[in-house]
Amino acid sequence: MFHSTRLKLTAWYLLIIMAISIAFSAVIYFGATNEFDRILRMQKYRIDHPGYQMQQITRPPWELDELPSHVTPDPEVIEQAKMRVIESLLGVNLIIFVLSALSGYFLAGRTLRPIQDMVDEQNRFITDASHELNTPLTALRTAIEVTLRDKGLGLSQAKGTLQSNLEEVEHLQVLSDELIKLSQYQKPVPEHIKQKILLTNVVRHAKEKVEPLAKTKHITLISKVPSSTIIGEEKGLTELFTILFDNAIKYSSENTKVTIEGKKTDGHIVIRVQDAGKGIAEDDIPHIFDRFYRADKSRTKQEIPGYGLGLAIAKRIVDLHNGTISVKSTLNKGTTFTITLPVVVE
Ligand code: ADP
Repeated sequence: MFHSTRLKLTAWYLLIIMAISIAFSAVIYFGATNEFDRILRMQKYRIDHPGYQMQQITRPPWELDELPSHVTPDPEVIEQAKMRVIESLLGVNLIIFVLSALSGYFLAGRTLRPIQDMVDEQNRFITDASHELNTPLTALRTAIEVTLRDKGLGLSQAKGTLQSNLEEVEHLQVLSDELIKLSQYQKPVPEHIKQKILLTNVVRHAKEKVEPLAKTKHITLISKVPSSTIIGEEKGLTELFTILFDNAIKYSSENTKVTIEGKKTDGHIVIRVQDAGKGIAEDDIPHIFDRFYRADKSRTKQEIPGYGLGLAIAKRIVDLHNGTISVKSTLNKGTTFTITLPVVVE
């Protein structure tokens, strides 16, 4: 599809350039032939009227000199000159055609490349999402089919199956919500949604959201964020810190601490979210912001829920706010996520 669209775009470029080039050539041709005809008529007139001086026309003296009476204008010379003009214009148009075809093909490729990358990315997203949705759906379907085939199915057994089905459906709901968020943060934040946001408010809201989970693991959340204003989308920024806190708690043992600290620098704020959890293996670090990536340990340890979408969403939100996000981690010691965001200088 990319190739045929590229050829079509090249053809359009070529058509436009050639239309302009041919129009210019026509103007040059008609201008030149008119001039030749005028010269021919002028010569004839001057031969017929030897004493006539064209004073009103500013011409170099040699043009105003009277032609010797034995010189007669030669229409064939004029015709030859016209033919030469046509040949030159054809040559120039051929060169323009070849150069425009080559440069048009190159430019069409460059124009379409980002669109092609976007389409490829979307196709990958659909494939990944379908794959992730397919696995729990297949499990759900199998469980229902097995239950239906069971002739001696009792009420309590049926309730048990329905209960586990409900849990699967809830997981699917979480997955679909995360997929919606991911696609939502793919687009730039519209200007009218961007507001002046107090970072401390955003962090407080995110903390409130994860507090119940932190309590179940007796994890203390410590916040040391200086008051600063960010231009952005409140919902997105709250989502960002919720994801980071949620992960810090999920991947930490009980009775540990999760700290968020901020430091203002020149026009920016550097925020660190630090935990003393299980850490991330060096090999996994380059991939953790990829969609659906779960570090091996959490993939095998099914007790830690997640779909590997949180950090992909977090990265998109940071990008949309012209910030950066990076990670440093040591296995079994802890992880620190560092986010840099531009702040309003007051
Ligand atoms: P999820 O947590 O749903 O698996 P994320 O995209 O949020 O997905 O994280 C990707 C992976 O990065 C996780 O599976 C986990 O292995 C690792 N990870 C993220 N945050 C932390 C953390 N604070 N401590 C240890 N590992 C983490």
